[in-house]
Amino acid sequence: MSKFWSSTVRKTKPYVPGEQPKETDVIKLNTNENPYPPSPKALEAMQNEIGDDLRKYPSPTVDTLKNVIANREGVAPKNVFVGNGSDEVLAFAFQAFFEHNEAIKFPDITYSFYPVYAKLYDIPYQTVPLNDDFSINVDGMCNSIGGVIFPNPNAPTGLALSLNDIEKVIQGNPNQVVIIDEAYVAFGAETAAPLTKKYPNVLITRTLSKSHALAGIRLGYAIGSPELIEGLERIKNSFNSYTINRVTLAGAEAALQDDGYYSEVIERVVNTREWTRYELQQKGFEVLPSSANFLFCKPTEIQARELYEKLKNSKIYIRYFDNLEDYIRISIGTEEEMQALVDHIKQKVSAK
Ligand code: PMP
Repeated sequence: MSKFWSSTVRKTKPYVPGEQPKETDVIKLNTNENPYPPSPKALEAMQNEIGDDLRKYPSPTVDTLKNVIANREGVAPKNVFVGNGSDEVLAFAFQAFFEHNEAIKFPDITYSFYPVYAKLYDIPYQTVPLNDDFSINVDGMCNSIGGVIFPNPNAPTGLALSLNDIEKVIQGNPNQVVIIDEAYVAFGAETAAPLTKKYPNVLITRTLSKSHALAGIRLGYAIGSPELIEGLERIKNSFNSYTINRVTLAGAEAALQDDGYYSEVIERVVNTREWTRYELQQKGFEVLPSSANFLFCKPTEIQARELYEKLKNSKIYIRYFDNLEDYIRISIGTEEEMQALVDHIKQKVSAK
């Protein structure tokens, strides 16, 4: 370890993202990407952006995109923050809203980036174990000292909280910031965005990476009271005013105005998810109901790790987490990819 690193960097164990294999002939079901292409209108807008104007900086205030998002969400542009992927929005939120001496709360299990941010920014945290059915413990998330964060639906379980339960968490943390990470909300959960009008301490984060098949352009955003949005702007402008590049801005503006295309894509993913869940249950897997674009499941006739490795040898990538020994997470691919997965599982399990 470098003697030149600061003490916070030294004690931060970096987040390990899912594998991004170099080969192209793989079935990639490990990082919750959308298996379908982005909207043709978004692709065209990005292609049109590649030209002479790239010599100029992009807009530091991203007004056009903020207007598009505000119209869509029924809020004002001053209620919108835009970041380079929702990971960046979340990183800024940790810096803007959480303190070094007030523990925040998040569920255990949840998105594994939260403890990494907390350590990096020196924010103490307390984890709230899930209920036995893997749902988030609503009472446990109340009465935090420093704020709360949770995804809805949760990752990697895919289970969603009702708006009623979300409101309980908000009311149980009246003087703290409550962040609801809606990375997967489009696949079947209800958005808490309307609650941001009632509660100035609530921040919603979203991403175009999953629902809009644009993980490659890195675009995330947040919705909240002007006070919270200004806090995020302050962090962003102290770090890099131009975090969103011109090509990304053009693609995001077009994508967010092509709901017709995306509602079909999302419906397809949801139908394939339900088909896959049924097929895996037929093979004896325990599979949680999912409101996201992935399934969280436990194989019963083969060890989770063994299945992950065998599938990887057949060039099918799923996600295995070292800390969740018995479980795997499978992202939803195309109908053909999921058929291939189910066929392989049938062979691997019966070859035991
Ligand atoms: N939140 C959750 C719960 C996620 O799973 C992810 C993707 N790994 C993100 C946020 C970040 O997504 P992105 O940075 O691509 O917007």
